Amino acid sequence: MGKQPGVAAAKIEKSESDHLSSSPQLNHRSETANRAAAKLEPQPPAGENRWTIEKSEELYRIQGWGEPYFSINAAGHVTVSPQGDRGGSLDLYELVNALKQRNLSLPLLIRFSDILEDRIERLNACFARAIARYNYPGVYRGVFPTKCNQQRHLIEDLVRFGKPYQFGLEAGSKPELMIALATLDTPGALLICNGYKDREYIETAILAQRLGHIPIIVLEQVEEVELAIAAARKLGIKPILGVRAKLSAKGIGRWGTSAGDRAKFGLTIPEIIQAVDRLRAADLLDCLQLLHYHIGSQISAISVIKDAIREASQIYVELVRLGANMKYLDVGGGLGVDYDGSKTNFYASKNYSMQNYANDVVVEVKETCEERQIPVPTLVSESGRAIASHQSVLVFDVLGTSDVQAEVPTPPSDKDPLIIRNLYETYESLSAENYQEAYHDATQFKEEAISLFGFGYLSLTDRARAERLYWSCCAKILEIVRQQDYVPDDLEDLEKIMASIYYVNLSVFQSAPDSWAIDQLFPIMPIHRLDEEPTQRATLADLTCDSDGKIDQFIDLRDVKYVLELHPLKPKANPNDNSTEAFTTAHEPYYLGMFLNGAYQEIMGNLHNLFGDTNAVHIKLTPKGYQIEHVVKGDTMTEVLGYVQYDSEDLIESIRRRSEQALQENRITLQEAQLLLQNYEHSLSRYTYLSS
Ligand SMILES: *Cc1c(COP(=O)(O)O)cnc(C)c1O
Repeated sequence: MGKQPGVAAAKIEKSESDHLSSSPQLNHRSETANRAAAKLEPQPPAGENRWTIEKSEELYRIQGWGEPYFSINAAGHVTVSPQGDRGGSLDLYELVNALKQRNLSLPLLIRFSDILEDRIERLNACFARAIARYNYPGVYRGVFPTKCNQQRHLIEDLVRFGKPYQFGLEAGSKPELMIALATLDTPGALLICNGYKDREYIETAILAQRLGHIPIIVLEQVEEVELAIAAARKLGIKPILGVRAKLSAKGIGRWGTSAGDRAKFGLTIPEIIQAVDRLRAADLLDCLQLLHYHIGSQISAISVIKDAIREASQIYVELVRLGANMKYLDVGGGLGVDYDGSKTNFYASKNYSMQNYANDVVVEVKETCEERQIPVPTLVSESGRAIASHQSVLVFDVLGTSDVQAEVPTPPSDKDPLIIRNLYETYESLSAENYQEAYHDATQFKEEAISLFGFGYLSLTDRARAERLYWSCCAKILEIVRQQDYVPDDLEDLEKIMASIYYVNLSVFQSAPDSWAIDQLFPIMPIHRLDEEPTQRATLADLTCDSDGKIDQFIDLRDVKYVLELHPLKPKANPNDNSTEAFTTAHEPYYLGMFLNGAYQEIMGNLHNLFGDTNAVHIKLTPKGYQIEHVVKGDTMTEVLGYVQYDSEDLIESIRRRSEQALQENRITLQEAQLLLQNYEHSLSRYTYLSS
């Protein structure tokens, strides 16, 4: 790459236009020249080996995790079809370019409100189908757990889209209760009040009945029983109460500890009996109407979901028998998202569909209630991840790469140290027959070289040569390994060792905290150039100065993979064309997308290294294309500095004073001082990420 005559031609074209003027025609001419130049680039050979978008589809597994929302078009760009096959689609790459022209820099979080709407419709449709199919004589009333994504526009959309289904909200804390009380205005929708509660929380929730809400106070701690009784007496209003049970059926994996006797929340069976007795004594047993459980998030095995609903159904009918006025069974969250598209019970996947889930809930509850001849409850679920994950995509750019230097080595002479000659010999004799042995030899020689250097027997230049030879061996071995069906264990790491590092314009801590904290996998792939073969193998390194700020595990059909296939960066066709950019990289923009990250990541993201919130936009499809509904600008430096109590005026003042001092002492020129202050002030008002 980079030596094609086209680049030079384009350069000349541009410098000519610089001489004349920057009229649009001339820009257009230079673009035409670029395109003509591109034709001169070596074309991939036609035929079987040509890379196709189908190969990209398979490689990045986009159908597995992306259907029906994401796919690849003939131009090799990712497309978004927010309403699945029922509506239009848009080209994500073109959208990003259009947004960049509106001064929305990357990293950029793009929300598709139509996807959110589709998720709500789907979940409700699945329950409606299950209810019809099994003749369930009751209804489903879902709620959205606010903690999953509290962003105002999203919650407002959610309430609006949920109206036809009387979809409600769940609050897990006092601030979330504030949001739910003020935002939910759907008649008949439930407002589930979870989390730790104090007197004020409970009183507020009870009083909300007067505003037309259906607030259900879920007792999660033994102490809350007395608080609820006291509040009911004080206000003279009967609360609607629920109880959260600690089931013995356990989730598995990451969130498995959300259930069981030692779980953080919920009442054990003896505690539930105690609560029932207390409520009966206080003449409030008719207030107890809901049974809730939550066995953890991202439950990947349907068998676990079935066990839980079976146990909960039994508790439900028992509560009816004990005299509670039961009406609702709330199965909590846990409905999984298939991040790797493998449809397995791997932690990044799930071995069931949304419809399987709804069917199992409906059937189990119906059978248990029929057996015991009691009326079926209204079914409630608190699915967060399954509703919110798909609606947002984070697009970020690559700032640069670092590759292992693996060149074809020049033969050493007899005067060169033995270790160099040994390494070269290893390189030369490498073949498909001996590559495993050669790998061990090369590794041993490299270690010897380092220790010889340590004792002063090898010069720095020779050590560099030894290391380069080692990398050359590794590169040659890797080529052989990639042809093999079976990779010996000791060579498995080779791909990782030899991977390029792609430096990306994002903070993992801000935008994908679960990837850092709990090794969660999100699908990541380029959003363009998908008709070209991605010849590089890479890991991603973020902007923070933290060695944990990286992504080196990626989705795969089986287990995970440790490198991601990416395209080599293309040198900029026209390096002088930096008219619109503050800072110009030497390569063409290369955009990656991180998908399915709409749940939990935003609010858990933190300000490590003071990288703030990213820019975000809300996009809605229209018959003609799309419309930008909201733009939420990311944090400026002034804002993030404010979070840690710095006042930007004070900071500027301090720099001003110091420059003045330096001027007095002739350490800086007036011009330098002005530039320094100008840059400083300008930076403060800017995005915390790099502009590329
Ligand atoms: C977190 C949580 C949820 C949401 O779980 P998902 O797996 O995201 O659907 C639901 N209910 C409770 C009580 C929760 O704590």
